[in-house]
Amino acid sequence: MLRIKNLKCYYGRIMAVKGVSLSVKKGRIVTLIGANGSGKSTILEAICGLLPQWEGEITYEDISLKGFDPPAIVKQGISLVPEGRLVFPPLSVLDNLKLGAYTMYRKRKHAAVKQELENVMSLFPILHKRAKQAAGTLSGGEQQMLAIGRALMSNPRLLLLDEPSMGLAPLIVEKIFQILETLKNKGITILLVEQNAQAALQIADHGYVFETGTVVLQGPASDLLEDQGVKRAYLGKDYGEFYDDK
Ligand code: ATP
Repeated sequence: MLRIKNLKCYYGRIMAVKGVSLSVKKGRIVTLIGANGSGKSTILEAICGLLPQWEGEITYEDISLKGFDPPAIVKQGISLVPEGRLVFPPLSVLDNLKLGAYTMYRKRKHAAVKQELENVMSLFPILHKRAKQAAGTLSGGEQQMLAIGRALMSNPRLLLLDEPSMGLAPLIVEKIFQILETLKNKGITILLVEQNAQAALQIADHGYVFETGTVVLQGPASDLLEDQGVKRAYLGKDYGEFYDDK
């Protein structure tokens, strides 16, 4: 569904992504894990048309995304849940959701917007309850649900998420990740960038491990969960074995 070949991304003269290749198959959850600053968010920005400078190939359903601006990418069926949620605090929950459907409003597809609103509200009943409340007054978990709901309003086939677990309590993270599984079961393909490698690998089908702008390891998520290097670096699990060896 999504294919990235030899992607190089630049911020001015600095190369933040150094020749990454990866693919996301239809109906799967693929996760990008790795340290802060290793280039994961930059890849999502390149896919969404938010990054002016990149080289290589990004193809989605066999169409090259080179030169597409963000609205054109949304129209192709790709939607981003950005890092830090970026909801519009003074606007109501309902208005935040409606903003996610701006490409449909342009085409005057009002009935489709209504249908998407109903879908999102039934997926997140709390958003229905808080529809008229200002988004800035929601809890972190609710804001994350709103950010996901807003992204779903354009009816994407590929959903990109940038650190949806950031700053949330473990129980809320569990809830958010259950929702991602529900979306997968509804047929939405997911590319998930996460610091919480454990939670991400548990729901993902495939994973890529990043270090300083390159992929250093990739494989089925279940294999990565068992990989000693991944455990040591990202899952904080190796200390028992370390002491057992002594
Ligand atoms: P994080 O979890 O911290 O977001 P990440 O793996 O997603 O990490 P990126 O945010 O993609 O990493 O950053 C990759 C590199 O690009 C880092 O060295 C970062 O400092 C740099 N970078 C990111 N955004 C910009 C920017 N707007 N201008 C200049 N450099 C940037």
